[in-house]
Amino acid sequence: MEFASRISKLKESATFKYSAMAKREGIIDLTIGRTNFDTPMVIKEAAKKALDEGKVHYTPTRGIPELREKIVEKLRDENSISDLDKERVIVSTGAKQIILEAVMALINENDPVAIPDPSWVSYESIVKFSGGKIIWLPLSAENGFIPDEKFFSVFENSNSRLIFLNSPNNPTGAVYPKKVIRSIVDIAERRDSWIISDEIYEKLIYEGKHFSAGSIYPKCIVVNGFSKEFSMTGWRLGYAACSEKELIDKMNLIQGQSVSCATSFAQYGALAAFTEEAKKETEKMRDELKKRRDYLMKRLNEMDVLCIKPKGAFYTFPSLGEIDDIKFSDRLLENGVAVIPGSPFGSSGKGCVRMSYGAASIEELKNAMDKMRDIK
Ligand code: PMP
Ligand code: GLU
Repeated sequence: MEFASRISKLKESATFKYSAMAKREGIIDLTIGRTNFDTPMVIKEAAKKALDEGKVHYTPTRGIPELREKIVEKLRDENSISDLDKERVIVSTGAKQIILEAVMALINENDPVAIPDPSWVSYESIVKFSGGKIIWLPLSAENGFIPDEKFFSVFENSNSRLIFLNSPNNPTGAVYPKKVIRSIVDIAERRDSWIISDEIYEKLIYEGKHFSAGSIYPKCIVVNGFSKEFSMTGWRLGYAACSEKELIDKMNLIQGQSVSCATSFAQYGALAAFTEEAKKETEKMRDELKKRRDYLMKRLNEMDVLCIKPKGAFYTFPSLGEIDDIKFSDRLLENGVAVIPGSPFGSSGKGCVRMSYGAASIEELKNAMDKMRDIK
């Protein structure tokens, strides 16, 4: 059968592929990036109320104004991004859709786009789908996957129209220091590049502080969402903000001709995510995730692997040396533990595996690490 040539540029998402493989009786699943916490009750109640009140119709394409107002306040108060208003915010069906819209609105055939290596799998696929040319920016396990001089120099010389920034990071858990983010912004400014700053793990930081590139650079598209912070991956709700209103307008054009708008009652539910009650639930979840991270690090440190303690998100990305990470992950799965091999995240991920501790108890992590130790 013949299909449009563009579809051949899209690869299957490795995260979903390995997650599907893990769905078998008796498998300890450390694959997909989600937590095993429930969405805070206050958010669920708000969504139920919206359904009961008949809020079941289309909303404005860029999202209900009340929610966009809340997002403007949040970005001003928590991230020091002051030059926004609700026309500079767009709500969509997840941060992934938002990133697709931004890339489709900005990138022409063969435009260079800088992506840290390794990175979350969807950046590469979305950029290839848009026709953009990927410039990989190398990161190393030795430096805890924090951008260094080599990374800056490849970016500086790449003439990239756009760079992806993601701190706290998927797949490495790295949290970039403010100084590093400033250096990236300095280069972007000199080169007149756009930045997509994917801040979806912002509230899952165990040491250090979050700093948004959006607070110092107008050509930064700040991407965030509800999936991770409030355990709402199935609600499909994310957002972007940018002080360059024209870009948000272009993304909204794509939205109006594709998904139309995000789900109405999900948006009303999300209004309650800005309450103290919901924020407290995130804090509780973060405390539990930190315990899991500490346990996993203790076990990894006892093994012969290279893994600098990740300060955020809910992933560890140990480097296991000269192994074939795909074969190793398959072998681990045969032994009852599902992880994601490192190479689908980029060539610097070769020899690594990504382990998500978002949805596994300490008991499960213990069993998983015992099995990993036995087969390594
Ligand atoms: N960015 C990163 C770094 C992610 O790990 C994910 C995965 N959830 C997303 C964006 C997309 O999130 P969602 O579409 O669920 O809002
Ligand atoms: N972002 C999560 C992950 O990396 C969820 C799956 C996806 O969207 O890729 O596992």
